[in-house]
Amino acid sequence: MKEEDIRKFKEQIEESGLNPVVRTIEVGDWIKNAERTKDDEAGVGTCWREYWQIFTQNDYPTRCPFCNDTLEGEIVDGCHIKIDEKRFGLSSRKWIEGSFIIPGHHDCNIAIDGECQAKIMILAVEAIKK
Ligand SMILES: [Zn+2]
Repeated sequence: MKEEDIRKFKEQIEESGLNPVVRTIEVGDWIKNAERTKDDEAGVGTCWREYWQIFTQNDYPTRCPFCNDTLEGEIVDGCHIKIDEKRFGLSSRKWIEGSFIIPGHHDCNIAIDGECQAKIMILAVEAIKK
């Protein structure tokens, strides 16, 4: 990531006054699609994928957290998800309040029926809408 971009992102964060929670999702953590989010507009940036980049200042991953297949170019979507508070191995889940954004295939996220385990480690940014 270019220093110039990082500087721009920091300015956008400061202007917005937003301070979303950023969590690390580990491989094997349970995640699921957050429903009823399609009309939500990102609190900062032009879209949710840009929103993720503004707050993480990271490049998009080259693999999709849902399916582990190649993720690149315009196909990268800012996906709304819920994150399990517990670790895998437990039969019941407790979903952390609010929804979070991770980059991934849109089709993979909406295809999740119930829940799935993350295939890569990825930062998730709390989704704060406009
Ligand atoms: Zn995928």
